[in-house]
Amino acid sequence: AHLDRIAAVDAGVHAFLHVDAEGALAQAAESDARRAAGEARHLLDGVPIAVKDVLATQGLPTTCGSKILEGWVPPYDATVVRRIKDAGLPILGKTNMDEFAMGSSTEHSAYGPTRNPWDQTRIPGGSGGGSAAAVAAFEAPLALGTDTGGSIRQPGAVTGTVGVKPTYGGVSRYGLVALANSLDQVGPVTRTVLDSALLHELIGGHDPLDSTSVDAPVGAYVEAARQGATGDLAGLRVGVIKELAGDGWQAGVMARFAETVELLEKLGAEVTEISCPTFVHAMATYYLILPAECSSNLAKFDAMRYGLRVVPEGDPSAEAVMRATRDAGFGDEVKRRIMIGTYALSSGYYDAYYGQAQKVRTLISRDFAAAFESVDVLVSPTSPTTAFPLGEKLDDPLAMYLQDLATIPANLAGVPGISVPAGLADEDGLPVGFQVLAPALADERLYRVGAAVE
Ligand code: GLN
Repeated sequence: AHLDRIAAVDAGVHAFLHVDAEGALAQAAESDARRAAGEARHLLDGVPIAVKDVLATQGLPTTCGSKILEGWVPPYDATVVRRIKDAGLPILGKTNMDEFAMGSSTEHSAYGPTRNPWDQTRIPGGSGGGSAAAVAAFEAPLALGTDTGGSIRQPGAVTGTVGVKPTYGGVSRYGLVALANSLDQVGPVTRTVLDSALLHELIGGHDPLDSTSVDAPVGAYVEAARQGATGDLAGLRVGVIKELAGDGWQAGVMARFAETVELLEKLGAEVTEISCPTFVHAMATYYLILPAECSSNLAKFDAMRYGLRVVPEGDPSAEAVMRATRDAGFGDEVKRRIMIGTYALSSGYYDAYYGQAQKVRTLISRDFAAAFESVDVLVSPTSPTTAFPLGEKLDDPLAMYLQDLATIPANLAGVPGISVPAGLADEDGLPVGFQVLAPALADERLYRVGAAVE
């Protein structure tokens, strides 16, 4: 049914870069046989899933939305991919994304943009617009995304789906092509909070192949979601982040946010306003740390080891091949960040930029720690606006970066966050996302609160 749906709508939505109909049907048939024999491996055995094209899938192309990886077929599975395969989830295909996960609209994909199923003239968010659009358009019931600065939560917000960024280290990054190693997390993209909880329990947990993986038991997310769904939040302390409102925040977004906060109060939560003064510096901090890490990560695309290789006529030297390949293989946004990162890391500038950003990062973590002394969760709108028209911010990187104002602090501090649908904005009838943030390793709280308000 999902393959039929993909065939019917994906020419317009363009959520997928690669559909593996044959593989998915074979996996589904095996799952049917297991179920008939009463041997299902997991509650989700047989439930199809779409995978963001930044996660390595053995035997299936993995492009990261980039020309430089066109035609690369990984010889191994990411740990999260292995876990969903072992549980029997058929993989429908690989979803579209901004090149190397840099962007907030999926327009930076080298393979053309994904369109928002709510209004195909608008963006589906990014960088994981493909995963969110696939779930919103009923092309897949579940998807995997990755969130470095908001790429699961912001697409969730603008497509009316649920997206979770787990605690840093809570889900393995092995086989995730790194954008920024200290910020990246894999997480679920689904239509309900309970579905995210189920998927998170499946993909979460320690992995010896990822040195930053936390060696702690997986939380009881499903249980927390069920508890939240009863609508009882008596005694829960909720902090509304003061800095994430005001100029530039769409009226319809703020109205749905305020209503959801009222709902929390009705369900028994104690709501207070909390100031996190350093959050206003989160964007500037992120756009030094992320380019620094990604400029180093992307050095491996040297025309020798993976994908594309361009040999300029008359000069087959290694340096010329490298230059020509990187020039042809990387898009503008990727080049912009490599240049910013290389500059910020260069000797003489390192302390002024990268070193300074690391200090501010620590202050942001301290703001979180101080806030979580007096509240259990923090809340904000996920994104300042609803889905904007395709092309609107493409020539204005700063305007694009501002989409992630509310999501970036969680990545800098490593804390978990969820975006749940909060209704439609009055002025344009488009989905609004409500963000809940919790302390590190307290991901259960996201599911409890998320399920109570969805
Ligand atoms: N939009 C942000 C960026 O461009 C977030 C990316 C992400 O989370 N992968 O960096």
